[in-house]
Amino acid sequence: MTDLHRLSIRELSEGLAGAKFSSRELTEHYLKRIAKLDTQVKSYVTVTAEQALAQADAADAAIKAGTATALTGVPIAHKDIFCTQGIKTTAGSKMLDNFISPYDATVVAKGKTAGLVTLGKVNMDEFAMGSTSENSFYGATANPWNLGHVPGGSSGGSAAAIAADLAPFATGTDTGGSIRQPASFCGLTGLKPSYGRVSRFGMIAYASSLDQGGPMARSAEDCAYLMNVMAGHDAKDSTSVEKDVDDYVANLNGTTVKGLRIGIPKQYFNVAGLDADVKARVEESLKKLEEMGATLVEIDLNMTEAYVPTYYLIAPAEASSNLSRYDGVRYGYRAENPVDLMDLYKRSRSEGFGAEVQRRILIGTYALSAGYYDAYYVKAQKVRRLIQQDFLKAFESVDVIAAPAAPTTAYKIGANLSPVEMYLGDIYTIAVNLAGLPAINAPVGFDKDNLPVGLQLIGNYWSESQLLSVVHQYQQATDWHTKRAAIAEENA
Ligand code: GLN
Repeated sequence: MTDLHRLSIRELSEGLAGAKFSSRELTEHYLKRIAKLDTQVKSYVTVTAEQALAQADAADAAIKAGTATALTGVPIAHKDIFCTQGIKTTAGSKMLDNFISPYDATVVAKGKTAGLVTLGKVNMDEFAMGSTSENSFYGATANPWNLGHVPGGSSGGSAAAIAADLAPFATGTDTGGSIRQPASFCGLTGLKPSYGRVSRFGMIAYASSLDQGGPMARSAEDCAYLMNVMAGHDAKDSTSVEKDVDDYVANLNGTTVKGLRIGIPKQYFNVAGLDADVKARVEESLKKLEEMGATLVEIDLNMTEAYVPTYYLIAPAEASSNLSRYDGVRYGYRAENPVDLMDLYKRSRSEGFGAEVQRRILIGTYALSAGYYDAYYVKAQKVRRLIQQDFLKAFESVDVIAAPAAPTTAYKIGANLSPVEMYLGDIYTIAVNLAGLPAINAPVGFDKDNLPVGLQLIGNYWSESQLLSVVHQYQQATDWHTKRAAIAEENA
């Protein structure tokens, strides 16, 4: 079969179970595509071919023995922020260029237990700070829809790998949009779960009160399969919730769009930087949902203007604390020939971290310093609570809230936006993390340059099933999620 990369996760699952093809064939097929096409896309930091083939053989044996799960033998790519035992885990940083994790992240371990085959580790902005994946020590990843554009970030490698059919699905993480925005830029579906739904154990920390792992794939159905693996309480992560998980695949038809109340925040559609094509595509998708029986309700989210300043205080504050562990002593990059301890710290950190990471450590350290702590950090925490309350009030009258995932489509590689311009691009995603809510991106068409546009749906706490289900219904009625970038049409 030459078109194995065109199959959905359900088709892969059924094909493997029915012995239409083996996991080895499937894995070799993907490895060949990566070898041929990833020189252009540059989505992988590390390809784990040997281990993947061994896992594929074990999967084939399990399928024969009748001990397979729904996903046994299906390949996956992991964002290089998830620790993988015996395999380099870099978080896109020179600081961790030599880091081989002694253990697996819970998400990775669960994937192994489910029989997933790891193709490799995919690129990302350094320590997940960024919106283009250009902040990676390993260089920029290209957007498969137009190789001169970025795939978004920070989970840009995950998005680009899927959009070029170099992996059928992938893990991502979302601290302020890093699943939803690259999914939007690459025409994919991506789910940011409620804070606490997916274990953060072994997921390299950026801003711990905001970080959350989640699935990225072509469709809500594909995401549901991965969500079934990723979700659940973990004793190793004290912030993961002891709450029953849904069967996200079984629930794909659990919510009907008929009667669904979709909130349309007035403030969101008046944002200065909102691109006209993005706005038009999002509005068309809402019209389609309305045709399918949803009711559109105009709502107020009065805190919109506070999103960017609040996130860009809290996230850097937590980052400055989390990243203090990279001191050149315990592990990671160490500067050569230090003259004394202070020189070792200073040079290891200034040589090991890139410019954006250093900027955020400085902002965060400043915001947390004595004398400024109350004025900045404490105040931001208070505003954070107001943002959360704003959402909770909205959910009294609507079931989900609609928004663009990003104000624009994918930027050009090297566009070199100023930090503030870049941060303003996060306006639609970061409040969800500040509130700890779940949200999903679904592809809803293209702009005039044939770059994908995404619709974001934000749900109330623990409504992952509902979000996946609504997008699944939409995807049954439309075909945006089936569109392929030209490079994905190529065969290896
Ligand atoms: N673009 C945002 C940032 O740079 C979000 C990143 C993320 O979600 N990891 O912080």
